[in-house]
Amino acid sequence: MNLHEYQGKNILAEHGVNIQRGRVLSDVKNVLSVADDLVKETGTGWFVVKAQIHAGGRGKGGGVKLAKSLQELKGVVSDILGMNLITPQTSKKGKLVNKVLITEDVYYPGEFEPEEFYISILLNRNTEKNMIMYSSEGGMDIEAVAEKTPELIFYEDIDPLLGILPFQARKIAFNLGLSGKAFIEMTKFITLLYKSYVSSDSLLFEINPVLKTSDNKILAVDAKVTLDDNSLFRHKDYESWRDLKEENPVEIEAKEVGLNYVDLDGNVGCMVNGAGLAMATMDLIKQSGGEPANFLDVGGTADAKRVEAAFRLILKDSNVKAILVNIFGGIVRCDRVAQGIVDAYNNMGDLINIPIIVRLQGTNAEIAKQIIDQCEFKVYSAVEFQEAADKIMEALN
Ligand code: GDP
Ligand code: MN
Repeated sequence: MNLHEYQGKNILAEHGVNIQRGRVLSDVKNVLSVADDLVKETGTGWFVVKAQIHAGGRGKGGGVKLAKSLQELKGVVSDILGMNLITPQTSKKGKLVNKVLITEDVYYPGEFEPEEFYISILLNRNTEKNMIMYSSEGGMDIEAVAEKTPELIFYEDIDPLLGILPFQARKIAFNLGLSGKAFIEMTKFITLLYKSYVSSDSLLFEINPVLKTSDNKILAVDAKVTLDDNSLFRHKDYESWRDLKEENPVEIEAKEVGLNYVDLDGNVGCMVNGAGLAMATMDLIKQSGGEPANFLDVGGTADAKRVEAAFRLILKDSNVKAILVNIFGGIVRCDRVAQGIVDAYNNMGDLINIPIIVRLQGTNAEIAKQIIDQCEFKVYSAVEFQEAADKIMEALN
């Protein structure tokens, strides 16, 4: 589950990490009272308005803007709230901005130039450790740094049993080129950031930029956080932070009926049991010249009700021109699945009129094939994997 910047910053602040402070706003009417509140807390004179959407690169798309007075702030908020924001990380259609975060300006002038760093923590499945990734080249273009000057990105593995050790925090602050007060502040920042990551059961905490202010404070200006869905039962308070407006409506519906569904861009709907077979099926479709429209694992009990629910989900995508059903009957009996498919097709009437290629292997596969071959609908059987893919390509053409 992805969080908004302001929610990620809430977790950071809870753990004592310094953040660029702010207030969330969804209605331009309240802008003056909210700004007033923020001025009282921070004493800031300038404000930054930041679109809250689940995508990065907001600065580049015009979703992060500075306002140098209350009057200007009102204008900037009404520009950004309700805008359709297109960034390098959204689709071409962009995303509607329903909320903004008004923050204090933390790039104020002073004795030193503000400096931007990049710091993220994520799970490294290869080393079975947490990994801190960091760079002195923070700011808006970390992807370009990774591509052109990868030597400027550093990695530090953290043993999950030991946690972050003081020498590791010092090493990171040193590699970022810091000294004096900023060095000490950075070691505290990293230690508390790691604590936030671990105690929230997150998969990712990405802070870009981490700012060194002109008076040598270190703070999080941005926060991209991905929580581990499997840990949400331990964090009931985070569950209510889910922003359904940011999620794919079909995927939400799939979750409600207990199907593992991921929306993709292609035109071949897939209905498969088991995640591994589902991936292999998508590969085969691609190799044969098609494009999968989705990943869908129906799980072990592919009965008529579930099959129908799966068909209904797949058909919400108007790009789908054919469906490939690929089921291995281990515990589930193929003849039951075949009957389920025929019943579902029958129940759905006009809603479904695209060809369906069905490959059923395993228990009672022959009976299943007979059921498919004898039915009056546009449902066709295939025995071999490649044959199924070829029939799909035929159906598309
Ligand atoms: P992103 O573009 O979605 O990653 O959004 P960020 O929160 O990282 O903000 C984008 C950029 O806005 C930062 O890299 C900064 O350069 C700028 N920015 C953020 N906060 C401030 C601020 O308080 N003052 C000024 N002047 N610029 C800011
Ligand atoms: Mn950022």
